[in-house]
Amino acid sequence: MADPLLSTRALVMRDLMATGVATAEVVSLLEDAVSERRWWAEQWPAGVSYVDGLVAQDVQDALLERVGRWPLCRRCADDDVHALYIHPELGGPDPVWVCERSGTEVAPLGGLGQ
Ligand SMILES: [Zn+2]
Repeated sequence: MADPLLSTRALVMRDLMATGVATAEVVSLLEDAVSERRWWAEQWPAGVSYVDGLVAQDVQDALLERVGRWPLCRRCADDDVHALYIHPELGGPDPVWVCERSGTEVAPLGGLGQ
């Protein structure tokens, strides 16, 4: 069986790179999140449709402690810096980045660079 976490890793990596924060330290945070969620998905295979968004949320939380808010909204014109959040909050299926301030969907997970 293919490892579903490989595509998860690729999606989140794409957004980290598109936003210019994919340093070695941040990539290792992603690796940690992927291995924890791989274990989680093995315990609960029905949860596999949630893992993409859950890993993105894990990385978001880890970055908040070390680097700051991520990813930042570039859609709104106001000067108040604010982050995007994964919807649905459960992590899936079909996770998207949403600006909760304006209530708009900004990009699918993995699509911040488009
Ligand atoms: Zn916004």
